[in-house]
Amino acid sequence: MLSGRMTEDLKRKTSWLDRVSSRVGAATGLSGSPEMLRTATRAYMPLGKQIVILGGELVGLELAEFLTERGRQVTVIDDEPMLGAGLTVVRRMRIVAELREHGVALFPGASQIQIESDGVLFVDADGRRQRFAADQVIVAKGTHEDRTLAEALRAAGFAVVEAGDGLEVKYIEGAIRGAWDAVEAVETGR
Ligand SMILES: Cc1cc2nc3c(=O)[nH]c(=O)nc-3n(C[C@H](O)[C@H](O)[C@H](O)COP(=O)(O)OP(=O)(O)OC[C@H]3O[C@@H](n4cnc5c(N)ncnc54)[C@H](O)[C@@H]3O)c2cc1C
Repeated sequence: MLSGRMTEDLKRKTSWLDRVSSRVGAATGLSGSPEMLRTATRAYMPLGKQIVILGGELVGLELAEFLTERGRQVTVIDDEPMLGAGLTVVRRMRIVAELREHGVALFPGASQIQIESDGVLFVDADGRRQRFAADQVIVAKGTHEDRTLAEALRAAGFAVVEAGDGLEVKYIEGAIRGAWDAVEAVETGR
């Protein structure tokens, strides 16, 4: 949407006005500016009031923070027993406490999660059946490596050096380190 490209899925999920504004944003370069987007999303986003996020790792929790700041009523559901398990202890404790303070409903350890047309059904960690209404359900379930493209290129005879989360999820520092190692590998021919 931000780049102004439109797929059939996006057409189905967005209004005519959303599509025109995203095209104007892309054509004028406005949607390429993070500062501008940050400000604009406080006034408008193509999302309803009630949002359920499936996934309580870094991305799901930061998204919950972002949406709550923009007046959305957010619920985070994950089948993992601990939210933000991959975060450093201090960051995890802060974000979880702050989300609770701001009224975000957090459900780690959920099971039997079912997305319906207007909400999400699940069994919470205490075995109770829960249902949360949702205008949108956002799946933000973690990241994993994917080497299929690198392997296909290698099989086609290209010399490929991999770096970043595609090779192994190690976040920003890992990606920077991986890029450094990749350049070194190319320069030294290793
Ligand atoms: C919401 C969110 C918050 C995060 N917060 C943090 C944080 O606080 N700290 C932290 O360390 N990490 C954080 N991360 C994770 C971090 O962004 C990634 O680990 C890091 O960006 C991985 O770097 P990368 O170079 O491997 O991949 P990316 O940064 O994802 O770069 C891959 C690039 O390849 C492009 N691309 C993909 N497919 C193609 C294709 N076929 N052709 C051409 N280009 C293509 C993509 O558009 C993208 O620009 C966060 C991630 C998200 C989504």
